[in-house]
Amino acid sequence: MQSELFYKYPKTILNKGTGFLSGYTHSLNPYVGCAYGCSFCYVREMPVSTFRDEEWGAWVDVKKGAADLLQKELARAKKKDGVTIFMSSSTDPYQPAEHKECITRSLLEVMVEDPPDFLLVQTRSPMVRRDIDLFLQLENNVRVSMTIETDREEIRKHFTPGAPAIRGRLKTLQLLKEAGVPSQATIAPLLPSSRSFPDLLREYVDRVCIDDYFMGDGSGGRRTENLGIREKYEELGLEKWYEPVTYQKLMRRFQRVFSDDQIYVSREGFMP
Ligand code: SF4
Repeated sequence: MQSELFYKYPKTILNKGTGFLSGYTHSLNPYVGCAYGCSFCYVREMPVSTFRDEEWGAWVDVKKGAADLLQKELARAKKKDGVTIFMSSSTDPYQPAEHKECITRSLLEVMVEDPPDFLLVQTRSPMVRRDIDLFLQLENNVRVSMTIETDREEIRKHFTPGAPAIRGRLKTLQLLKEAGVPSQATIAPLLPSSRSFPDLLREYVDRVCIDDYFMGDGSGGRRTENLGIREKYEELGLEKWYEPVTYQKLMRRFQRVFSDDQIYVSREGFMP
């Protein structure tokens, strides 16, 4: 989907880490809205989206002046205490617009100059590979978490047709690994996948995080249910993948290939 861009000049850029992200002091969103428009994205039901006329995925606000704000707010926060940052909680920091706007890169440049104690970069986009040079300067204080919900491209297209293809995400994990950037594959929300999915990921990462709607949507799955996601499983006859116990079955598949200390579940996989 082609998203319409809006240029905004926010007054602040760092938000307090709360709820699912209470293990972080701050969250950082370079954009508002998200061009990927995933069907299961519950941010569409949050105030940032519900007051907009256009549907979720059709608009993106670009936060101009974000780097200057971060420079000031980060310095101030570091004077008070340790700073751990989750980027991003309600958008993907690698929007298609990031190619041209470079807001996320400008934020990373600030963090290279004045590093937080820890930064987690959460994305579905292969564009994250562009910033490997900056991640390397953050050394072990950064982790790139690449979402790969499934290895089956037709499943990915059914649930997230606007998001980048799986192959590019895997290639990016390979490049991150070769460069020595700490990274993980995040199977979140877990979607129907092949039996060989764990073997495929094992080539690229030594750390995975598994999450589902029931643990990860902040409401025991109710938010996702309200989005009508069950129907998307029914359309494929794959309702058995839409159950609270499914993650345990997937875990067992992963345990055949990964050791227990390489498998994280839900919130613990996103923590600093
Ligand atoms: S990439 Fe993330 S923020 Fe964007 S629509 Fe998908 S789930 Fe929502």
